[in-house]
Amino acid sequence: MPEKILIVVCDGLGDRPVPGFGNKTPLQSAARPSLNHFARNGACGIIDIIAPGVRPGSDTAHLALFGHDPFKVYTGRGPFEAMGVGMEVRPGDVAFRCNFSTVSADMTILDRRAGRIRDGTVELARALDNWEFEGVKVYFKEGTEHRGVLLLRAPGLSPLVTDSDPHQEGVKPHECAPKAPEAALTARVVNAFVKRSYDILKDHPVNRTRVKAGELPANIVLPRGAGIMPHMPSFLERFGIKTAAIAGVALVKGICRVSGMDIIDVKGATGGLDTDMKAKTAAAVSALDKYDLVFVNIKAADLCGHDGDPKGKAAVVRRLDAAMAIVKKALPEGAFLALTADHSTPCCVKDHTGDPVPLAIYGKGVRADRVRTFDEIACARGGLGRLRGLDLLPILLDLAGRSEKFGA
Ligand code: ZN
Ligand code: ZN
Repeated sequence: MPEKILIVVCDGLGDRPVPGFGNKTPLQSAARPSLNHFARNGACGIIDIIAPGVRPGSDTAHLALFGHDPFKVYTGRGPFEAMGVGMEVRPGDVAFRCNFSTVSADMTILDRRAGRIRDGTVELARALDNWEFEGVKVYFKEGTEHRGVLLLRAPGLSPLVTDSDPHQEGVKPHECAPKAPEAALTARVVNAFVKRSYDILKDHPVNRTRVKAGELPANIVLPRGAGIMPHMPSFLERFGIKTAAIAGVALVKGICRVSGMDIIDVKGATGGLDTDMKAKTAAAVSALDKYDLVFVNIKAADLCGHDGDPKGKAAVVRRLDAAMAIVKKALPEGAFLALTADHSTPCCVKDHTGDPVPLAIYGKGVRADRVRTFDEIACARGGLGRLRGLDLLPILLDLAGRSEKFGA
């Protein structure tokens, strides 16, 4: 009988030895009986999520874990930026990274980042969002600080257009030009959007207030880096399995959605440090009733890594462990668990690195190895050896009796 699969990804969990912790990693330094239970009774290994030494983003990492080769799927960043700010992205949508910028009355760019504007971009973005031009639906949403995302939706759009953003100051915005005949409509929409952004933003109350305060107005939006959302076959199409995801962060949620997973919203699952991890793992386990594969992303460890806070990261590990105690208790008979991370975010680097991440696969019939603890160092001695992110899904599907034989 095919069995159920639970994948728990602790975002940014991997780390490097911390001198203040006697050269243990934050994961190694924390009490973690439940995590260790899965390692001790499971098969362990380490994963190069994309390839050895390649520093994954959370987006490319999750693509790989879901069995999509990021080098093939992740071409233009625009659609993934759109997911990152919480926009819904559909196959065929073309999206652009954008800056709020400042232009003078003769359209010379004075500041590509509009004085690094922080406040008011929500209102500015709302004034530009939800428009239609030549039958193309146009959406715009603010990102952090001066950043935003432009998303175009219509049949027959193309990402083969040049940037409006000239990537320098003291010049005028570039006319967006098609690089191929089929991109003519896309270019026209972008040019109309840029013009419209100036018309609407130049006298917007947010900008009037900024000018009064001696700040640069964010009076134009300059798109760049067009990308199209490829069609990614769903888990159902690829493997005939029903899948659901629990994730707090918009970017990860977006990738789960385009991978064809149902999104389960869990009360208290914020994607922040305050996220209710126990609520997440409990919801994941009960979702296994209805779904063949359930995926959970828990973000908190990554945040401590970016903050360079090993103590905070160790505290997150203790909370993770308490949340995984629920899985230990309630994982259905026969189900398989994969416990891993999407990348390392070492506190000493404060960013993602290519260091491989620990993996434990737990379940009936798994070849338990000699690994006793769940951490970056111990798991490297496990029976699964060193894998790539793309390997995880086939291994789990095989264990769960859900893969097709290759050959006769
Ligand atoms: Zn991540
Ligand atoms: Zn991160």
